[in-house]
Amino acid sequence: MKRLKFQEMLDGLRQGLEGVPEHRTGRNTQYTIVEAGLGAFSVFYMQSPSFLAHQRDMQRKKGQNNAQSLFGVERIPSDGQIRNLLDPVEPAQLRESFWEVYRCLDKGGHLDQYRGIGGTQLISLDGSQYFSSQEIHCPNCRVSVRDEKRYYSHLVMMAVVCAPEQEQVICLDPEFITPQDGHEKQDCEQQAIKRWVERNAGRFAPWRVTILADDLHCHQPLCALLLKHKMHFILTCKPESHETLYEELALLEHVEGAISTKVVRKWNGRYHERWVYRWADHLPLRGDAKGLLVSWCELTISNEATGKQLYHNAWATDLTLDEQLVVEVAANGRSRWKVENEGFNVLKNRGYHFEHNYGHGQQHLSMVLLTLLMLAFLFHSALDLTCLMYQAIRRELAARRTFFNDLRALTRYLYFANWQQLLAFMYHRLDLAPDPG
Ligand SMILES: [Zn+2]
Repeated sequence: MKRLKFQEMLDGLRQGLEGVPEHRTGRNTQYTIVEAGLGAFSVFYMQSPSFLAHQRDMQRKKGQNNAQSLFGVERIPSDGQIRNLLDPVEPAQLRESFWEVYRCLDKGGHLDQYRGIGGTQLISLDGSQYFSSQEIHCPNCRVSVRDEKRYYSHLVMMAVVCAPEQEQVICLDPEFITPQDGHEKQDCEQQAIKRWVERNAGRFAPWRVTILADDLHCHQPLCALLLKHKMHFILTCKPESHETLYEELALLEHVEGAISTKVVRKWNGRYHERWVYRWADHLPLRGDAKGLLVSWCELTISNEATGKQLYHNAWATDLTLDEQLVVEVAANGRSRWKVENEGFNVLKNRGYHFEHNYGHGQQHLSMVLLTLLMLAFLFHSALDLTCLMYQAIRRELAARRTFFNDLRALTRYLYFANWQQLLAFMYHRLDLAPDPG
């Protein structure tokens, strides 16, 4: 399998930044958008808010620094300069950097382990709020009023490639939920998911992708759109929001054999679990004559001895179900949460310093920074998938925090000519062997 080099990914990001139209006139042209973008990226990638300050020190004392050698930041801008330079940049300008990495991973065969039902690629989509304040705001903020107080926030639709047996997710380009040109009303998650699908469906071969999303998106317009773009779907389907479908199901309960059932007994190491799958085909998504027909299934897991319910969920899908497929659909549907657990949680709570004080900006800053942060997250996941040395070091250091603490300390005191040299240094000093070359 072809390995993906850090430098290749960084070149992709650099190209994206080089493509951003120059928006400045006259003054403030000392630093470039490329330097500002790579500088902010390096802070997220190293999970170190003081990375650039330390590199400025090193430059003064040693005449060289790691921001330049590792990230190609020729001159290091200040936080204020980074803020001013990146604020006018449209986050969409950085989309291709995500797909660049995706294509390399795909071509190298690294996504073969990310397969779901029928060999399709599973893509989980979910929206989340990533910024909220009562004071700080910009024209792109969403405004809401609660108890006579104004709240400003930003939301994003995150897309990740996931698989039931894979712990890591691969981050794809995000879609921001933000006021759209020519639209008066506030944007919403449902519109964002549509834009994402319309924009990206053409990147995949027909019927090679299965979209996972929660109940909010399990409705006719999205399902019809996905089918139009030749994508499968497995969407959480709750009774509260799908009255017609569940009324129909209730009727089928009285028809013998109309709802299929499969029971599996599983030993979880402590007690036996009872897994009950139920499924039915040709159920209407909505009440009118043009209601799309979908398959429905549910999985209920309980403690066999006590009868206590341990898990329950239900999904709607375009796939026609049978005894084997229903098991796969439920397993795939259950991996939807990975976008929350392995995606948003990692970004918010595991050291990426999104709240770094670059500030909020007046135009796009908050979105550009989140995009760079997601790219940093993607680069780490890609290395973890493809680079043997990186894998060995992460395994040896076990805790994520230790790995980043070491990166921070090493790059503060020592100069490395490139990322590969830094990895090799850690690898050899940790006495990891054999050398994967
Ligand atoms: Zn804002």
